[in-house]
Amino acid sequence: MALTVKRPNGTQDIVPNEVNKWHTVESVVKDTAEQFGFREIRIPTFEETGLFVRSVGDTTDVVQKEMYTVSSAGEKTYTLRPEGTAGTIRAIIENGILNEGLPQKVYYTLSCFRHEKAQKGRLREFHQFGCELLGSASPAADADAIALAHNVLDRLGLKNIRLNINSIGCPECRAKYREALKAYFEPHRSELCETCRERLDKNPMRLLDCKSKEDQEIAKDAPVITDYLCEECAAHFESVKKQLGIMGIDFVVNPKIVRGLDYYTRTVFEFISEDIGSQGTVCGGGRYDGLVEELGGKPTPALGFAMGLERILLTMEAQGCEFMEQRTCDLYLVSMGDAAAEKAVEITARLREEGFYVEYDLVGRGLKAQMKYADKIRAKYVIVIGDSELESGSAKLKNMATGEQSDISLGEALLDDFGAKYYEMMLDTDDDFRSFVEAFADNGQE
Ligand code: ATP
Ligand code: MG
Repeated sequence: MALTVKRPNGTQDIVPNEVNKWHTVESVVKDTAEQFGFREIRIPTFEETGLFVRSVGDTTDVVQKEMYTVSSAGEKTYTLRPEGTAGTIRAIIENGILNEGLPQKVYYTLSCFRHEKAQKGRLREFHQFGCELLGSASPAADADAIALAHNVLDRLGLKNIRLNINSIGCPECRAKYREALKAYFEPHRSELCETCRERLDKNPMRLLDCKSKEDQEIAKDAPVITDYLCEECAAHFESVKKQLGIMGIDFVVNPKIVRGLDYYTRTVFEFISEDIGSQGTVCGGGRYDGLVEELGGKPTPALGFAMGLERILLTMEAQGCEFMEQRTCDLYLVSMGDAAAEKAVEITARLREEGFYVEYDLVGRGLKAQMKYADKIRAKYVIVIGDSELESGSAKLKNMATGEQSDISLGEALLDDFGAKYYEMMLDTDDDFRSFVEAFADNGQE
């Protein structure tokens, strides 16, 4: 009996018919990040487990129950990255990148692995676009990173995404706030979920992050961190808000946003979509001034964010956003007979070298079936080559959209002839191409 193997729970196949959606997001992310001065970094898929325990924090859901950890005989214990920040900071320290001048701005697009209950917008393998900005304690850096995330979402065409920001202060502000939270939640201890009872002792701020409705209800009137900020932290927060205002980026201050990491300091933020239900946080980030030092680097203020790309795509689909089109075949060469097939191969090689997308029959189909196939793959042009075309050295070039036919040389002139026809057709049918050409022509006249 044949073995039937299924995709693991919580993973996705990205099939060729859908991959243009990913290309759209990846290209916007890359272009925007680079325009903001971020450079790409690529890191390993797994790291020593201790890295995540120390950076993500051992009281977080991620470390307590979501990590995929493997150990092979006689080796250290490794974990599939549940997020990108820890590995990125490790790599930046290990490669001495902080010695190359500050600030350092890096971005990444990578897969993450978390052992979660799989549901819509919550997977076990998912993808993040993230960035990290190191070496600036200035509120300008917070605003710069937030602006990058905002621009990416905007360029993808997303609407109704609300930026929530908060400040969780420095360790001193937080110590006072923790006491206030403990005092508030203690009388409710028995009503809290089991995890939150533990949080109350170990890390009361995480209570505000609880997903249980009952706990959220209890937390409704909890003291807010912004009332406990020291003067410097309060001034920092004011300045971040002011700069967002200057950039025209709307936000709401949400004192319930505390984020998971222990090393977050001051600014934290989330972009929340209203269109994909409860898994609505499409991007989360914040400042983590203590992390570089914690991981063995010299003390360096830093911040970053990560965007969940599956949630971005869900939102784009829900909102009917546009995706980049799949590239379609420029020219399909239909051939009859061995000599014509060889000619098709030769022409294909020449035109591909010039950047055209060209295909010819690979499965030995007859004339009609080849035409049908060319139609199915939405080829823009077709040339049919048979004995008489080989003899005369000229064939018909058929525009598949209009049915219009014209003569084309199969010799030296083919490239020029085809190039000219192709250019004309693009001007007629492709608005982006036409405006590009027109803008170019206008510039030339000035
Ligand atoms: P949540 O509260 O939804 O569990 P989180 O706080 O665990 O999110 P982060 O660690 O901040 O998430 O990760 C950043 C972003 O990555 C999230 O805002 C979300 O868009 C995405 N993300 C996190 N976990 C998953 C997952 N299991 N599947 C898909 N996307 C995810
Ligand atoms: Mg989570």
